[in-house]
Amino acid sequence: MYNAPLSYSQLSGQEKAKKLLARTLAGDRLPHGFLFKGPDGVGKCLFGRGIAAALNCKAGNPVEACGVCASCRKLYSGNHPDFTVVRPDKGAIKIDQVRELVKSLSYPPYESAHRVVVLEDVHTMRREAANSLLKTLEEPPPGNLLILTADSSREILPTLTSRCQVIAFMPLSREETSAILITHGIEKTDARLLARLSEGSPGLALTLQKEEMVGLWREVVTVLSDPAVHVNRDVGLILRLAEKMAATKEHLPSFLALLRLWIRDLLLGEEEILSLLGVNHALKSWSSRELFDKLQAIDHAELGLTRNCNKNLVCEVLLFTLQ
Ligand SMILES: [Zn+2]
Repeated sequence: MYNAPLSYSQLSGQEKAKKLLARTLAGDRLPHGFLFKGPDGVGKCLFGRGIAAALNCKAGNPVEACGVCASCRKLYSGNHPDFTVVRPDKGAIKIDQVRELVKSLSYPPYESAHRVVVLEDVHTMRREAANSLLKTLEEPPPGNLLILTADSSREILPTLTSRCQVIAFMPLSREETSAILITHGIEKTDARLLARLSEGSPGLALTLQKEEMVGLWREVVTVLSDPAVHVNRDVGLILRLAEKMAATKEHLPSFLALLRLWIRDLLLGEEEILSLLGVNHALKSWSSRELFDKLQAIDHAELGLTRNCNKNLVCEVLLFTLQ
């Protein structure tokens, strides 16, 4: 997070959100809370930090942070006492985290006019946790601004949405995503592949890179599309791949999303992913019917994961269906 620009207007993409935010920040009254709704990893939290920067910048421009004053420097180094990010704990924002937050907001900000709190992934909140936030969200103590973020594809409790100014975030273009990845030291060809695989989410792309999931994905796709690999003869190979997939643990859903993308490309007759992969041997060819069945198998595997089925087993069943 901390090597991205501090000022939100200098972040990549999100032109609509930037305009809305600039208008709101330049106005007389801030909303009680914002809800940033969009895909994972497209900069929602960075925009939250950018708002904290703009509101507290000593240079006095309410819309744009200077990047060099004491307040901006603290935010940039991640040490600002009046900027907090609350993240899900083991998959959800819990009621205890909310209670602790509500209590901390009853004290005035340490050193700034505005304390900004980002609550990440509020779609993970259960009703009780959300309920304990409602009063604060409706009427935050003076000097506090809450910014909620949520994945746009997930359901959010309407009690939260209705109390916030909702701002939509979009995937970035592939060029924007690649450019960000290159600033993280990722080599150009890999950056292009990651931009494609992450569908415009630099955050997801960086996770894929860090967890070495692209390498595993390359291995799985290569084996599955190789006509020389045979289901009866190569059981051991398939089982080993399934084991590796299961070992990605909490990242397994992202891995399944990558497999889905590959099948979808085949279905649409696009071979971009395969060319980016450098797969050059003869490929199996599947009918549309077979490809649809494979998409369904991925749906089925995802469902299994949400129901806490054994990961190894889910992966084994999936790989035998996909190849
Ligand atoms: Zn500043």
